[in-house]
Amino acid sequence: SIKRDNACEIAWYSDDMLVNALLEKEILSSFDFALFDQQFGIYLQPQIRANGEVYGAEALARWLHPENGVIEPEVFIKVLEKADLIYKLDKYVWELAARQLAAWKGTEWSKMSLSVNVSPKDLYYLDIKKEFTSLIEKYKIDPLHLNIELTETAVTSDVNKCAKLIAELRQSGFIVEIDDFGSGYSSLNMLKDINADVLKIDMGFLRRTDNHERAMVILRYTIDMAYELGMGVITEGVETKEQFEKLIEMGCEMFQGFYFDEPMPVEMFEKKYKR
Ligand code: C2E
Ligand code: MG
Ligand code: MG
Ligand code: MG
Repeated sequence: SIKRDNACEIAWYSDDMLVNALLEKEILSSFDFALFDQQFGIYLQPQIRANGEVYGAEALARWLHPENGVIEPEVFIKVLEKADLIYKLDKYVWELAARQLAAWKGTEWSKMSLSVNVSPKDLYYLDIKKEFTSLIEKYKIDPLHLNIELTETAVTSDVNKCAKLIAELRQSGFIVEIDDFGSGYSSLNMLKDINADVLKIDMGFLRRTDNHERAMVILRYTIDMAYELGMGVITEGVETKEQFEKLIEMGCEMFQGFYFDEPMPVEMFEKKYKR
């Protein structure tokens, strides 16, 4: 809970700034214990093919706070990134995903893949390839099932470094996806040098705006471009049947979005989806 006893002193801040500053402080002071106390977990959001088959899920961090309930990543990811602590959470989340894949070996879920997120900051704090290969060894899982999502922002922050990293990860058998593709300002240029397995198209293209028709043209050509460059395509943020049908028409083969399902606890995912 947020303490307001110093509220007078900083009353000239806007309410939002005050709340954010206190929240940030609170997150940072409780993070290490929360991690140790296993308050962080993953929710799984299904990823599906055009024929409706669920082939995997994205593992998304959730803070299962003992008093405040389930806290969404938008509250803590940016704060942890800013404080250079995100690598700790990410290592933890990747390990949860690897452990889940190990638990699914030899079960109805054995063919499922799990995608995990890599923060741009992780590139500077971790030896990403070493982290993932040691998880594969530790849990004796197939790297093909552990998909690695690098955001476009991460990749554009150091294209040379990422081109090399992505090549090495793919060489080791991992599937590498470029997350939030098209959300930044140098998306296309970067693709000359980056050879990933999958482009994950940012959900911004699907949001209803006055420029909807233009967005649809860009989406259609982005999908074609991905295929010509030898990549697969996932569109994220699919919320309606209409969007789904339009994307199928455009040739998109993989989807993620509230139209199919929201991120959910692992046990719920297991109950709903078997392969
Ligand atoms: P992301 O990696 O692009 O993940 C997709 C986000 O979009 C998820 O939000 C998901 O719940 C949301 N989403 C999926 N389908 C729809 C839809 O149809 N409509 C709308 N409006 N939203 C949809 P979530 O779980 O809140 O995560 C937000 C972001 O936080 C993620 O975006 C990712 O950038 C970051 N994040 C989540 N978990 C982790 C993590 O373990 N590590 C790092 N570094 N970042 C994470
Ligand atoms: Mg959310
Ligand atoms: Mg992602
Ligand atoms: Mg995304």
